[in-house]
Amino acid sequence: MSTELADIFGSIGREQGYDDIVAEFAPYKEFKSSWRRSGRSVRFQISDYMNGADRDVLEDFATSLYRRLDRGPGRSIYTPRLVSWLMSREFLARNQALYLKRSRNLTLDHRGKVYDLQDAYLSLRDQGLVRDCPDAVFNWTVRRNRMRVGYCSVLMKVIAVSSILDQPNVPSFVSEYVLYHELLHIQDGLRPDRRHHGPEFRDREHIHPRWKESEEWLRRLAAQRA
Ligand SMILES: [Zn+2]
Repeated sequence: MSTELADIFGSIGREQGYDDIVAEFAPYKEFKSSWRRSGRSVRFQISDYMNGADRDVLEDFATSLYRRLDRGPGRSIYTPRLVSWLMSREFLARNQALYLKRSRNLTLDHRGKVYDLQDAYLSLRDQGLVRDCPDAVFNWTVRRNRMRVGYCSVLMKVIAVSSILDQPNVPSFVSEYVLYHELLHIQDGLRPDRRHHGPEFRDREHIHPRWKESEEWLRRLAAQRA
């Protein structure tokens, strides 16, 4: 229970005409918040990753959510102050380990049975394909996902690569290429416009020397049934 959170959402909400306001932190795995409104009462469940944010950041966040409540989605909630909190070292120090704990499909190890994602990252970095990314954490998935072979949380700087690629008969460049794709997202940072795979992104993706063969491998693996 955070009285500061309740206090901030309460006072901003009253200015907006609400009179019965509840705001509490909720342990969602992803960074998300939700609300239920009924007449002049509203109940917010705010991602507990916001716990520890400065008061002015929480005020920005509350203002953005109330605006969304009134005018519907499509409006970015990310004010400059919020973005700088979300991209800060402090945010990561508070939340990255918690996020990993909530991620059930990660082995929490960059070493697989065959390949080491940390080695793949160092190789990408040494080839000049990605920038230094010291806060990023690399993991193999527990399940052998075929269709979704890689994903990342830009906010938490956590990358997952499917363990289907961690087998001796799959060449190392395939998992390296998937890691490369996810590292590009992390380098791009938060994109409130949600245009993650635009033409400019595809151009950068194709800088990887083995991109074509890798895509070919991923198509074949996705098509397999076993
Ligand atoms: Zn992507």
